[in-house]
Amino acid sequence: MSKVIISSLYDSPEFRMACRQFDQAADAISLPESIRDRTKHPRRCIAVSLPIRRDDGSVTLYEGYRVQHSLSTGPSKGGIRFAPDLCLGEVAALAMWMSWKCALVGLPYGGAKGGVSVAPAQLSRSELERLSRRYMQELIPFIGPDIDVPAPDIGTNEQIMGWMMDTYSNHIGHLIPSIVTGKPLSLGGSQGRREATGAGVAHLVCRYLTDVLKTPPEHATIAIQGFGNVGSEAALALVQNCGAKVIALSDERGGILNPRGIDVARALAYHRYQGTLAGFEGAEPISNDALLTLPCTVLIPAAVQRVITPEIAAKLRCRLLAEAANGPTTYSADKVLEQRDDIEVIPDLLCNAGGVIVSYFEWLQNRANEYWDRDTVLTKLFAQLDRAKDAVEAQKRKFKFSRRLAAQTLGIERVAHAKQARGLFP
Ligand code: GLU
Repeated sequence: MSKVIISSLYDSPEFRMACRQFDQAADAISLPESIRDRTKHPRRCIAVSLPIRRDDGSVTLYEGYRVQHSLSTGPSKGGIRFAPDLCLGEVAALAMWMSWKCALVGLPYGGAKGGVSVAPAQLSRSELERLSRRYMQELIPFIGPDIDVPAPDIGTNEQIMGWMMDTYSNHIGHLIPSIVTGKPLSLGGSQGRREATGAGVAHLVCRYLTDVLKTPPEHATIAIQGFGNVGSEAALALVQNCGAKVIALSDERGGILNPRGIDVARALAYHRYQGTLAGFEGAEPISNDALLTLPCTVLIPAAVQRVITPEIAAKLRCRLLAEAANGPTTYSADKVLEQRDDIEVIPDLLCNAGGVIVSYFEWLQNRANEYWDRDTVLTKLFAQLDRAKDAVEAQKRKFKFSRRLAAQTLGIERVAHAKQARGLFP
């Protein structure tokens, strides 16, 4: 039997990276051969054409994707990414990581990811709305609150989730808030969801600074690559909740540095208004590469995948690498990090899990039609992250694994065990 779809996924460096990680983890825990391929490969890959009428009357055809990696432990869950040059292989890798992440933090979900290959900033608001609605329309036969539940990711936001929920609800004939998470509060979104990923990153960074590095967070200097939802919320929480000093920030156009500390709230207001951090007063410009190799206590890649290459890994001068992005460290760079005993890593599967944890809370609230206050949400979030952290530390100690391998093996093992327990049908 030829595996045309699966082999084409291997064209993507992200998919190859996720598969190498899987193979390494499967070997480390001696996962039986008979369960490997079906735990590794995605359950379903959906690709759709999206013809969109532009404001000038012309029509542009976009390509959209949704990969449901695992449906064995519940509906699949994961964000929708609007980014130029997005391809099915990248989406499949991100879906695989979602499976392991959900399993690691104990959510009753499999992993999924979706997206459209588009530069959203180049569309008008009404074009973006038509694209979001058409994407959801094309997915309707394949998703549902008990089948697959999308959420925001890079290039998408609450408003887009609102349009998608409206499109689905119109099709069904009544409001179905639990079809997506990360919605506006007025449509059944959860308190704390917008800041959940960043707040979770900040919480774990404080825990690791205190427990592992024995450094008070108030003495830590922080550099953050990426100033979208995750990077900006992590920066704010680190300053406001942990008393840390953020010395460098960057967006896709470049970064800013102030060794005495950046006023993050002002930087956020400036970024909202100008659309960039460039030109922010009270800091000097710095390139994205220079930011990554800056001497600091904590480096937080909070943008895209594969920014920490082996060359960068060898030059890192942080003591804690907190992976707020998905897949920021390449497989070979990770081998370099494993040799460096001067750097602790909070792997992406754990570090950025706050987003999907609060998505789960949002889905629960929607289904119960009962809403929680922000303190309840954040308290439950931090408790769930702490449990996952403890599990990772125990696995690391027990098998002498790196922290990344500990997280991956826990996630993969749980998915594989569920598949084994369900058996093979027919
Ligand atoms: N896109 C986020 C992630 O990568 C959140 C997914 C979700 O909330 O379903 O984890």
